[in-house]
Amino acid sequence: MYDIIIIGAGPAGLTAALYASRAMKKILVLEAVSYGGQIINSSMVDNYPAIPHTDGYDFATRLYNQVKELKVDIKFERVIEIIDQDKYKLIKTKDNTYESKTIIIATGNSSRKLGIDKEEELVGRGVSYCATCDGAFFKNKDVAVIGGGNTALEDAIYLSNIASHVYIIHRNDAFKAEDVLIKTIKEKNNIECIYNSNITKLNGEEKLESIEITNNDGTIKTINVSGIFIAIGRVPENEIFKNIITLDDSGYILAGENCHTNIQGIFVAGDARHKELRQLVTATSDGAIAATEAIKYLDNDKM
Ligand SMILES: Cc1cc2nc3c(=O)[nH]c(=O)nc-3n(C[C@H](O)[C@H](O)[C@H](O)COP(=O)(O)OP(=O)(O)OC[C@H]3O[C@@H](n4cnc5c(N)ncnc54)[C@H](O)[C@@H]3O)c2cc1C
Repeated sequence: MYDIIIIGAGPAGLTAALYASRAMKKILVLEAVSYGGQIINSSMVDNYPAIPHTDGYDFATRLYNQVKELKVDIKFERVIEIIDQDKYKLIKTKDNTYESKTIIIATGNSSRKLGIDKEEELVGRGVSYCATCDGAFFKNKDVAVIGGGNTALEDAIYLSNIASHVYIIHRNDAFKAEDVLIKTIKEKNNIECIYNSNITKLNGEEKLESIEITNNDGTIKTINVSGIFIAIGRVPENEIFKNIITLDDSGYILAGENCHTNIQGIFVAGDARHKELRQLVTATSDGAIAATEAIKYLDNDKM
């Protein structure tokens, strides 16, 4: 029986592990993919206090190593269900069932999908959600970025230094991004902005060959591209908890600053939580708070 099982090894989960381990609790971290969470996809992190000019991989690796130094048990298994047995909780993965007195959910969020035909089957064959991970595969090719926020514009700028031509396809008539990014986009002569348009079809069998875009006036156009980078926002990963945990309308777990969910002994930290600002600094802050609350719960002997 563990004291605390942490679901997710992103910044929130790893920070929770740091705090819980230093309090000498018996903990396990379960991670579905790889350590670090979303930030691993970022080529530049410049707003984390006291660590200027770093990149996401470096940030995540430092945190991971800090946690591993404490001999924290981290297993790479996706959690598929949690069951509340009141005094203790069951955490199920495909192959195992673990028992713990408390749980910290730190499952973050993931890229929103377009939801069109062939999107899933062409992932890794022209469809990507991460310019910094996959951009290098498109050297001197034509690509498109879908979206109109900061991430889409950052992706387009990054790709403009690798690809021959970068289209930005945005469903509205103006970008919703920082002025400095919009200015940079305008200065790049290999970036072309297509406004008021949605991507409606992906063409290609073995790999992506072209995309169909439909203008808000109904005009349809085909553009030949080898890759598309989808940057249309993020969605929470909380479906598996919804039977017992209360979510808000957007699927985020309802909890205040103390990170308590509606179930005693189950806490939530980071981007998975209902909140205003989803950033590293708020994720790590939540991780510290959730662990401290779990420790208090254990030490008050509410078991
Ligand atoms: C491209 C990009 C750039 C960014 N740049 C910045 C920046 O410069 N500054 C900044 O402050 N923030 C930035 N952010 C936001 C920041 O990365 C997030 O706020 C932060 O990572 C949230 O941490 P988290 O631990 O809550 O969630 P996540 O980082 O999403 O980590 C959640 C982890 O849980 C795992 N998981 C999910 N479901 C399960 C399951 N069922 N079982 C087991 N594990 C599971 C996931 O695999 C993941 O590893 C950026 C985000 C992106 C995408």
